[in-house]
Amino acid sequence: MKVFKFGGASVKDAEAIKNVGSILLQFEQEPLLVVVSAIGKTTNKLEECLTYLLGQDQLKYDHSVHALRDFHIDIAGALFHDHHGKVFRFIDDIFEQLKNKFDKPRAEQHSFEYDQLVSLGEVLSSFIINEYVLELGLKSEWLDARRLIRTDHHYQEANINWEKSEALITALLESTVEQTNTFITQGFIGHTAEGFSTTLGREGSDYSAAIFAYCTNATEVTIWKDVPGMLNADPKYFDNTTLLSKISYREAIELAYFGASVIHPKTIKPLQNKKIPLYVKSFIAPEEAGTTIQSEGGNDHLIPSFIVKKNQVLITISSLDFSFINEDALAKIFEVFYTTRIKINLMQNSALNFSVLVDGDKVHMDTLIKHLNPTFTCKYNEGVELVTIRHYNQATVVQMTANREVLLEQRSRQTARFVIR
Ligand code: ASP
Ligand code: MG
Repeated sequence: MKVFKFGGASVKDAEAIKNVGSILLQFEQEPLLVVVSAIGKTTNKLEECLTYLLGQDQLKYDHSVHALRDFHIDIAGALFHDHHGKVFRFIDDIFEQLKNKFDKPRAEQHSFEYDQLVSLGEVLSSFIINEYVLELGLKSEWLDARRLIRTDHHYQEANINWEKSEALITALLESTVEQTNTFITQGFIGHTAEGFSTTLGREGSDYSAAIFAYCTNATEVTIWKDVPGMLNADPKYFDNTTLLSKISYREAIELAYFGASVIHPKTIKPLQNKKIPLYVKSFIAPEEAGTTIQSEGGNDHLIPSFIVKKNQVLITISSLDFSFINEDALAKIFEVFYTTRIKINLMQNSALNFSVLVDGDKVHMDTLIKHLNPTFTCKYNEGVELVTIRHYNQATVVQMTANREVLLEQRSRQTARFVIR
C-alpha cells in the first residue's frame, strides 16, 4: 500500500481536484490510501464560524456558514453533472447540521466544540473527491477517519492511540471488498473512544498520512505540494532556492521543527520507526522526483537551509523579588505555557530573566501576563523575526543578519538561530 497526501492548496478548486484525479488515475493499478485536507482555506473559515457561534452572533454565523456552503456547492457543481445527486445531498446535510448548531446547547470546553465543528472541512473534501474519482472510473472507497484513528481527549491536539488505531484500520481494510484499490480519507481528524471527533493540530494532515502509513505498514508516503519538494528556503522570501533531493529523517524533523512549513513536524517519527520513505513531490509536475526522506543522510550538511518565522513575540520573564530563574521558577513558568497552550519556538535564560519566543498570532499577551502574575513580570517585543540557519557558516550568518538588530542568538554545531528586527 502507498499513502498519498493532498493538502488544502492541492484541492483548492474544481480544477485542482481534477488534477488530483489525473494523478490518481496514473496509480490505478496499485493499492492506494489517499489522505486529503479541507478544500483551500476551509479550516480558517470554519474557525471563523466557531468564533461567531461562541460569540452568539447569529447573523454573522449564518452568513459564514452559508458562504462556505455555496463555496462547496460551486466546486461540486463544476465537477458533477447531476446537480441533485449524492454529493449535493451530502453537502447540504452537513451545512444543515452546522446551521442547527446555533440553537443547540454547547459544551463548556471550547476545544471540544472546535473539534466537532472544524473537523467537518475534511469530511466534506474527502467525500467530494471520492465521488469525483468514482466518476473517473476508479474503484474507490470513502473511509471515515472518525472511526479509524483513535485518540485521547486532548481536543485540538489529540494524541494517537496507536494500538487501537492499528487494530481499527487493519480490521476495516481486511473487510473491504477485493476490487477496491483506492481509499480516500480525511487528514487532521480522529475520534475518542466515545465517538467524538478530535483534531490533531493545525496542518495535521501530513501527520495523518504518516499514521495511516504506520498502521498499514505502507511501502511509501508521498506528500503532494505546490513546490517541487523540500527546498532549502521558502521561495516566498528567497529568490534562489535549492531542492533538497535526498535528506535523512533526522534532518527533515529538525527542519520541520524549526519551522519549515513544508511538512508537519510530527510526520517523521512514525515513518522513521517503520523505515517508510517519504517523498515530497509537486502536484504541478508529478513526473519530477522531488525530495526523498529516508534513513541515510550522509549529504545533509552540503546545503545550508534557511527558515524564517515572521511575526514573533520575544517575551522576557523575570521574578519580581530579584530571585533566580532556577528550576523551581522554570517549572512554574512552563506550567503556565502548558496550560495556556502557547508553544515556545526558542528559549534562553540568565540569572534573572527567562526569554521565550512565540508566534504572534497565537499568543494573547494579557492572558499570559495574568497567568504569570503575581510571581513574575514580563516585558515583550512584538513583530520580531526568528531566522534559523541549518549548516551555517560565517557567510550565511552575515547574509541573514546584515543591517538588522540581533536581539538574541543561539548557535550549536549545526544550527544558528537569530531573533532579529
Ligand atoms: N485542514 C487542516 C488545516 O488547515 C489540516 C491540514 O491542512 O493539514 O490546518
Ligand atoms: Mg494545509
